[in-house]
Amino acid sequence: MDDKNRQDVLSLLPDELRDRLRDHFTRRDQPAYRVDQTVGWIYGAGPSGFHAMTNLPAAEREALEANFRFQEPEVARISKARDGTAKFLWRLTGGELVESVLIPSRSRLTLCISSQAGCAMGCTFCATGWAGFDRQLTAGEIVAQYRATLRWAADEAYGPITNVVYMGMGEPLANRKAVHPSLTILNQGFELGARRITVSTVGVVPGILELADRPEQFELALSLHAPEPELRAQLIPLEQRYPLPSLMEALKTYQARGGRRITFEYTMIRDVNDAPELAVTLADLAREIRAFVNLIPFNPIPFQDWRPSSDQRIEEFRRILERAGVSVQVRTPRGREIEAACGQLRADAEAGLR
Ligand code: SF4
Repeated sequence: MDDKNRQDVLSLLPDELRDRLRDHFTRRDQPAYRVDQTVGWIYGAGPSGFHAMTNLPAAEREALEANFRFQEPEVARISKARDGTAKFLWRLTGGELVESVLIPSRSRLTLCISSQAGCAMGCTFCATGWAGFDRQLTAGEIVAQYRATLRWAADEAYGPITNVVYMGMGEPLANRKAVHPSLTILNQGFELGARRITVSTVGVVPGILELADRPEQFELALSLHAPEPELRAQLIPLEQRYPLPSLMEALKTYQARGGRRITFEYTMIRDVNDAPELAVTLADLAREIRAFVNLIPFNPIPFQDWRPSSDQRIEEFRRILERAGVSVQVRTPRGREIEAACGQLRADAEAGLR
């Protein structure tokens, strides 16, 4: 069977995977426990590819290989920063490059994954936005970033990955066909709790409403970056399609379904979106939906001469929010020397800067 016709096991929903494997092993007169053996391996951290499954007879490994595809992306580069942050640049089968970032902190090991190769949203503060869109990732390509990193983290004594955030390259809610199954696979297949998975969006309203309809309690992060429509539209072109008031309505719906937590991400760019008055407007929005606010100093990108806000200005912003009763934190930049921000590793690699 050629590659296209082999079913990608990491793209299948856990129930579908079991059904397909049951059919496969039944046809081959194999005992039912072969399904559990294979599923256990796929949702584990062992090497990908059926050849590695030495608990199966050689003939069964070959038969699986002939009918199914079980593949992780090739590692193009791994960069590790002094603070332990590790950045992975993956080469997909078509040669496209995507990235994931593993961020250790005291109590968590968070993996940031990509959902698209490139991005069509064109946000002006983002390296990926400037580089344009290549293609959608499949559910398997999204999940495989997690699976491959799980093994790397275990080998490098980082321990288990505790949280996954869809905050790498791409707008996850512009690839809902793959992102929805990938959420189910991470949650039901790899048994990562829904509250440990965060979907980040620049504000795709229909996607937020679809997520709200799911029974799982996934967390949602909104890349807000400006609390006023005009300024926001300068940073995020999608604002013109889904203006802030409609976005706030969608967030209220999301929150109403089981009181799920919403975070506002606010990248602080000097003299662009860091005027103290904006902190007051931001506080009003955050209070409306009891959102938690992350203030993130802007990480300079190759295509813009913007700079991060001063520490003093960030602190002033934080204090205004806090005084208004909003839960807020300043997110310390991680892995700066490996450029562990959205799209930067790929942007550099493609520009031949390294
Ligand atoms: S911030 Fe996110 S949505 Fe905007 S261009 Fe970058 S990757 Fe795309």
